[in-house]
Amino acid sequence: MIIGIPKEIKTLENRVAMTPGAVETLVRQGHTLLVEAGAGLGSGLSDEEYAAAGAKMVTAAEAWGAQMVIKVKEPLESEFGFLRKDLILFTYLHLAAAGSLTRALLKAGTIGIAYETVTLPDGSLPLLTPMSEVAGRMATQVGAHYLEKNQGGRGMLLGGVPGVAPASVVVIGGGVVGTNAARIAVGMGAQVTILDLSHRRLQYLDDIFQGRVTTMASTEPNIRAAIQSADLVIGAVLVPGAKAPKLVTREMLPTMKEGSVIVDVAVDQGGCVETIKATTHDNPVYTVDGVVHYGVANMPGAVPRTSTFALVNQTLPYAMRIARDGMGALKKDPGLALGLNTFEGKLTCPAVGQALGIDS
Ligand code: NAD
Repeated sequence: MIIGIPKEIKTLENRVAMTPGAVETLVRQGHTLLVEAGAGLGSGLSDEEYAAAGAKMVTAAEAWGAQMVIKVKEPLESEFGFLRKDLILFTYLHLAAAGSLTRALLKAGTIGIAYETVTLPDGSLPLLTPMSEVAGRMATQVGAHYLEKNQGGRGMLLGGVPGVAPASVVVIGGGVVGTNAARIAVGMGAQVTILDLSHRRLQYLDDIFQGRVTTMASTEPNIRAAIQSADLVIGAVLVPGAKAPKLVTREMLPTMKEGSVIVDVAVDQGGCVETIKATTHDNPVYTVDGVVHYGVANMPGAVPRTSTFALVNQTLPYAMRIARDGMGALKKDPGLALGLNTFEGKLTCPAVGQALGIDS
């Protein structure tokens, strides 16, 4: 198959859909890789590395002319002209929030396979997980940074020092983000509490952390008590398909310590902290009632090199199967078939249809 890798054009998007190593794997399997010149630069991957891996370095139009285009972000309006009927587009699409893109894909008849709806038999979303792992680990790192005095925080070292108590980190939601956040916090020597609604999840966390975290049921009184003594609160809840519940309310905020920090990773689903609003890497924090709020909705964007490799680790096996079997790959794997959002002018993802009021 001829596979195109265009450069991402969304503002501040520095990830790239395939690394030179992934290109080499696909080329060895007999595929032709057309990589747009400069596509990897934001992730520290040079054109020379891609060329050495067997890619042909091309223009954007040439990359988009391939049979399958693999990307990171959804096409922007300036790319709509590249959409066509015989094109397989494999990327994050997030169509439920993108009416004009959905219409453009349907009008062109493009086969749109969305990373975010590819599903494993246990219901987990393997192509979303790597970004949650990155965001979770980053949440603690970012929180530790904003706890520094000159960043507006309490002036505390997360791990303390001999003779001085470490900071208290409260993680609300113990899924992929929460577990990764807790892992780094434990590693830095903080006192860590994780709250989740799922008892099974708490059992798992209790088991893997071997007594190095406190687990608590996520009830209103428990959250209220935990955040009062917290130095860093990390919001990491997800209710699939819904907005995040507001678990830390406006009224609870004055009970928190002056200079404490909230990193609400769930901000992309509206946030689980009532006072959180989406911020950007340019201007990531603001303060309410003396509590520093961090609400960057695309945290992995700050570490594009790690994020690119983490994403490609998960997407390459699917890309290899689509390249080998075309649409037959979706027939063989029902979980990959759930990634199909648009096909020959029809919407094939009911959730997107419902969100946009289009028949699917
Ligand atoms: P996940 O499904 O792995 O985990 C969510 C956890 O929240 C589950 O364990 C669930 O039981 C728990 N939960 C649900 N309701 C709860 C409640 N009321 N109290 C406590 N726990 C509750 O999801 P994830 O991959 O960890 O993602 C978490 C959030 O982070 C999502 O909103 C996701 O979109 C977001 N995210 C944001 C970024 C970013 O850059 N800001 C990056 C990746 C993921």
